[in-house]
Amino acid sequence: MTQVILKPHKEESLLRFHPWVFSGAVARVVLDPDYPADAPREGDVVQVRSADGDVLGVGHWQVGSIAVRILAFGVETLPADYWQTSIAAAYRVRETLGLVRPDNNTYRLVHGEGDFLPGLIVDIYADTAVVQAHSVGMHCARHEIAKAVLDTVPAVRNVYYKSDDTLPFKAEISGDKTGWLIRHSDCSENADTSEFWSSENGLQFRIDWLRGQKTGFFIDQRENRALVERYARGKDVLNMFCYTGGFSLYALRGGARSVDSVDVSRKAIDLVNVNVARNFPDDPRHHAYAADAFDFLNEKIINHKSQIINYDLIILDPPAFAKHRDAVRNALRGYQRINANAIRKIRPGGILFTFSCSQAVDKEAFRLAVFSAAAQVGRRVRILHQLHQPQDHPVNIYHPEGEYLKGLVLFVE
Ligand code: SAH
Repeated sequence: MTQVILKPHKEESLLRFHPWVFSGAVARVVLDPDYPADAPREGDVVQVRSADGDVLGVGHWQVGSIAVRILAFGVETLPADYWQTSIAAAYRVRETLGLVRPDNNTYRLVHGEGDFLPGLIVDIYADTAVVQAHSVGMHCARHEIAKAVLDTVPAVRNVYYKSDDTLPFKAEISGDKTGWLIRHSDCSENADTSEFWSSENGLQFRIDWLRGQKTGFFIDQRENRALVERYARGKDVLNMFCYTGGFSLYALRGGARSVDSVDVSRKAIDLVNVNVARNFPDDPRHHAYAADAFDFLNEKIINHKSQIINYDLIILDPPAFAKHRDAVRNALRGYQRINANAIRKIRPGGILFTFSCSQAVDKEAFRLAVFSAAAQVGRRVRILHQLHQPQDHPVNIYHPEGEYLKGLVLFVE
């Protein structure tokens, strides 16, 4: 097997179980004598050793600033049952957390580094698993992963692969980046998802992993949606950046007086309407608008009541404003602006749920942006809850970079 030898002292972070080897830490690469090329191929399983020759672990070779992502520490080769045992361990955690239930068959089975499987995401929607690779190594292992998921999760009969947007842009990839890996005979070839439903805490959602964002649904807001349900009774609710309408459904079930869902995407609004109709048929409390968030909050778009209304509860769950470090300053300005607009629209005694899913914007920076928004509007604001990603999106304690979702629940006077 190819060996990656580190520079002196560069083994320290690996001994602390940090799963990445940066390219600057690599002294040299020693290929197997019969290796068919003169450099390792991206996605190869390689062995990592210290400058003194001690075995540190095995992982996937990558091209770029991260040279190796470690799959197993302290071993010379990947155990033959590696995929089975790691996927089974991830499943046991979800069972222990009480997420696998008849009324809840939507959960994240594998959350990359947080499940010690760097570069791999697996989401479960009823009888279908959607696998997403963020590294060429995981792409190469996709068939073994699919089989391990099928063997491990009793409910799963189909495994769909969706990695067209997540694999490294310049990598040479062999094989399809998207399509069925395993398909049960009564599941149609063209993966028609129009009648595919999955439940989250007893609410039904149509999951469109083919055309939808990410793997089709944002599982990471489940617990925060449940908190909205607790506060929704009798309130006029605005769900801004609603996508599939997750927060709206919980607010309706929680007894909201009215719920307005807003998203710039027409497709998202169609999906919200389908989901509301399925769970709350003919419910007059709900209205959905395809509109830009800033225009809607600035009242360039007036809602169905043809008047300017304020809300008792507003949810702001925008897409990642900063996709990388260079964009952080602009992102913080964006968070401040949208939060200031929302705080203006809240009735006294109202509540704002505000989120950031930008990994590059940390908790403190986000809180400062929201603080600046409150100060700009000049209202008295208290923090009721500090929210984060849920338990099926765990953060590996040795890899704090895995923390990305943060939220604040504010009481606005
Ligand atoms: N809250 C959702 C997830 C939000 S994802 C859930 O619980 O599932 C972010 C959403 O913001 C996407 O659906 C995207 O279409 C929408 N969006 C992006 N820019 C927008 C804008 N300027 N105005 C309104 N919606 C926008």
